[in-house]
Amino acid sequence: MSKFLIITCPECGNKQRIFARTSTEIKCQKCEKLLAKPTGGKAEIFGKITKVLE
Ligand SMILES: [Zn+2]
Repeated sequence: MSKFLIITCPECGNKQRIFARTSTEIKCQKCEKLLAKPTGGKAEIFGKITKVLE
């Protein structure tokens, strides 16, 4: 089950698609705020989840 999420950066509002089970930290492409980090299973999300893509 691979899910992608659209995350809105709480800092600058930039929307970014991320993998829900990322194994690396994901930063905003615009302002480099940390948006998600791996927790062993699902990523911990710091931004606003705008959309879930199955
Ligand atoms: Zn940002």
